[in-house]
Amino acid sequence: MGGEIADTYTHDRKFIGRGYINPKSQILVRLLTRNQSQQINEDFFLNRLKDCWAYRQKVGYTENCRLVFGEADSLPQLIVDKFNDYFVIQTVALGMDVWKSAIVNAINQLFRPRGIYERNDVPVRELEGMPQIKGFLSAPFDTKILINENGLKFYVDVENGQKTGYFLDQQDNRRSIQHIVKGAEVLGAFTYTGTFEIHAAHYGAKKVLGIDISESAVRQATQNAELNNLKNIQFQTANAFDLLKQWSKEERKYDVVMLDPPAFTKSRETLQKAVTGYKEINLRGMKLLRPGGFLVTSSCTNLVSPELFLEIIEMAAKDARRKIRRVLFQTQSADHPIVSTIEATQYLKFLIIEVQ
Ligand code: SAH
Repeated sequence: MGGEIADTYTHDRKFIGRGYINPKSQILVRLLTRNQSQQINEDFFLNRLKDCWAYRQKVGYTENCRLVFGEADSLPQLIVDKFNDYFVIQTVALGMDVWKSAIVNAINQLFRPRGIYERNDVPVRELEGMPQIKGFLSAPFDTKILINENGLKFYVDVENGQKTGYFLDQQDNRRSIQHIVKGAEVLGAFTYTGTFEIHAAHYGAKKVLGIDISESAVRQATQNAELNNLKNIQFQTANAFDLLKQWSKEERKYDVVMLDPPAFTKSRETLQKAVTGYKEINLRGMKLLRPGGFLVTSSCTNLVSPELFLEIIEMAAKDARRKIRRVLFQTQSADHPIVSTIEATQYLKFLIIEVQ
């Protein structure tokens, strides 16, 4: 039955592992343990969450962090984000969803949290035969949470924000723009709640403009800028593809352009469309830069490998007729650990280049 625990064996009856089963899914069994004597029960989840927390503490991500990063933490299809005393969870597969109360109990026991919220309003749940839902898994609380990151303050709307409300995976990358934005005119596209742009203003940019297609994101970004008493920063609602094209025709120029678009595809069939999208947006970004300016560019599409992303950037530079030098190339923060045998665990590419 879907959601039940099942053991898997090789053809010659050697134990492979124990996991949960869903005959409706393309992945029949997702493994929870390779240890035959380990039972899957409430204690199992408590111990796994303890391990997850110990790891985050060791690598230095405690106040806000991705506490559980699914497969990479041997808890397939479970996401838990910690925003100081609040927790947001996603159980995307049926076999994980049936353990939701065990997970909530474990969080309560380990953290005595001020609140837990479920963001299971994700379409893939329907493929597993589950409804899309969101709501409290604790007593209700004000779902607009205030967090600190790199000495700055941000509101996180765990109820209506995108995904779990905030992109924790970029927390180190936001810090890495510190030197290049000093005294610069900065344009940030796909700004969401303004995190990169607010960092830029804080690190001494002369002027910052952030754009996003979502009006509510722009509203939140503006509030976040006010929260940090920043004056040299503005946000605007617009389609980045159209606006960047128009502005490069008008020959507007910036010292730093930052791009952080959403994933362009989740399936191999449309990979080529994603490649074209990245090339287009990065080409536009480069054209908007003064000689010696910097392009800060991200890709969270996991089917676009780091090598492919670098190739796309080279193609864009060639078409823009600009020479580029790589300043920095990194990935998501260490609270989203990478397991090299699990492809989807390395999904974020974060690149800074100098554009001559
Ligand atoms: N940089 C942000 C995360 C960006 S998420 C951070 O670190 O928090 C991607 C954002 O792109 C979303 O806010 C989404 O609303 C926006 N977006 C999607 N398509 C867009 C488009 N065509 N033009 C402008 N913004 C777009």
